[in-house]
Amino acid sequence: MEISHYISGQAVAGKRQKTGPVFNPSTGAKLYDLDYGDATLVDQATQAAQVAGKAWAQTSQAKRLQVIFKMRELVIAHTEEIAKITGLEHGKTIADAKGELSRGLEALEYATNAAQVSKGEFSLNVGGGIDVYSFRQPVGVVGCIAPFNFPVMVPLMMASMAIACGNAVIVKPSEKVPGAAFFLSDLWKEAGLPDGVWNIVNGDKQVVDAILQHPGIPAISFVGSTGVGEYIYHQGSAFNKRVAAYTGGKNHMVVMPDADLEAAASAFVSAAYGSSSQRCMAISLLLPVGRETAERLIELVVPKIKSLRLGAYDDNDADFGAVISADAKQVIEASLETALKDGASLLVDGRSHGVNSDGFYVGASLLDNVTTSMEMYKKEVFGPVRAIVRVGSLDEAIAVTNSHEYGNGAVIYTGSGNAAQRFVTEVKAGMLGVNVAVPVPVGHHNFGGLRRSKFGDAHMFGPDAARFYTDLKTVSQRWPEISGFDTLSMAFPSNS
Ligand code: NAD
Repeated sequence: MEISHYISGQAVAGKRQKTGPVFNPSTGAKLYDLDYGDATLVDQATQAAQVAGKAWAQTSQAKRLQVIFKMRELVIAHTEEIAKITGLEHGKTIADAKGELSRGLEALEYATNAAQVSKGEFSLNVGGGIDVYSFRQPVGVVGCIAPFNFPVMVPLMMASMAIACGNAVIVKPSEKVPGAAFFLSDLWKEAGLPDGVWNIVNGDKQVVDAILQHPGIPAISFVGSTGVGEYIYHQGSAFNKRVAAYTGGKNHMVVMPDADLEAAASAFVSAAYGSSSQRCMAISLLLPVGRETAERLIELVVPKIKSLRLGAYDDNDADFGAVISADAKQVIEASLETALKDGASLLVDGRSHGVNSDGFYVGASLLDNVTTSMEMYKKEVFGPVRAIVRVGSLDEAIAVTNSHEYGNGAVIYTGSGNAAQRFVTEVKAGMLGVNVAVPVPVGHHNFGGLRRSKFGDAHMFGPDAARFYTDLKTVSQRWPEISGFDTLSMAFPSNS
């Protein structure tokens, strides 16, 4: 499959003035050079999207939603190919890639409710025979800027509701993993989506900046790192655009002494190291409450982590795969060294993972005695180096969790309803888990963090997505039986 841009229902090769390599992280081999678009290509895609989007917005809701239903069937039918492309370019195992795809499908399934979640309101005879109603219309063209760690789920989550609500989209996949989103293009076409409603412009910052600046793109959804998300939010806002940006996380998992420690240990290992920890909702930090809880948990988690098997994306026995790039590997490994210099102790040393390959493999490491002043605590490490921060009480656990700049997810394992209740009400994170280690909400609940894990007050996934991808208009109308209903009055209109 040749990966290129996709505009007006066709693959567009690009000028090849600027390209970037796409790797197979499992082997370290370069797969191909991806053409990077520019402002001219973004303009071409926007013009196509504006024309197609206008017609799509006028298409009946029933017809639009039939396309979403059909797309769901096609994605299911092509699960194997999509999972393979995802694993090949990302490094995650096929099983993990299929799990990712199933969450993308949830977004498609939820988007079939677009008619319900985007419908308006009506008030009869608010005064003087006037009725007031509100309705929602698609914003037009939406720019969707995606991260590398969910090559298919995030583009699907962003586009499903946007398209179902009658918009056209310009997707900018991560330049590291453009294949899976590109594969969706033919499926959308086969599902009956008119040409120009789904477009892809590949590339880097140059393309993102062109999307930010283009007057024909009024709304932008972004998922990625905090620095970039903050930039996109502020730049987009400066151009008076609607921006929702979901950004980095450092998810704390508190384990109380009354928790089922065996369950908590298993949950921690899978939530912390799955997908090489390259998930925004991965558990980064384990906070056992009390010395005994800490010692017991360490006894339980260490052998489990040591038994994890690293391998290529298509190795059915692998628990997790390589990280995305040689640069990422270096950054993750350096974070471990810094933590050790800062005084952390090492419980599991992933540096000796034993995989003999040029792939970007990083073994699972676990640090102990990490404190909130250490870089290991403060910075998001997007790879399998995880840390224990020991705390003495629930109060301290909540205070530590709230001291972090991020508030994406936070989790408590406990047998106490009271502790759980305090945790979910007092912790400032957008997605909370009680005895659930990866509390990614189902498609019909809003997804999104708080604090510096999210910029912009709108949610782009879940019920609020329908509001993000539409403009609200409110009409006050009167249909009098006789003429002469307006008389001159300079007072502000009142309904009394
Ligand atoms: P990234 O910020 O490097 O890239 C995201 C997108 O922004 C890509 O399409 C990239 O091309 C573009 N980009 C990169 N640098 C840019 C710049 N300087 N100017 C403009 N655009 C730029 O993120 P990533 O490494 O691809 O993804 C990992 C990050 O995403 C992690 O921080 C992770 O926590 C976060 N993430 C968050 C969520 C969430 O829901 N909160 C979900 C998934 C990933």
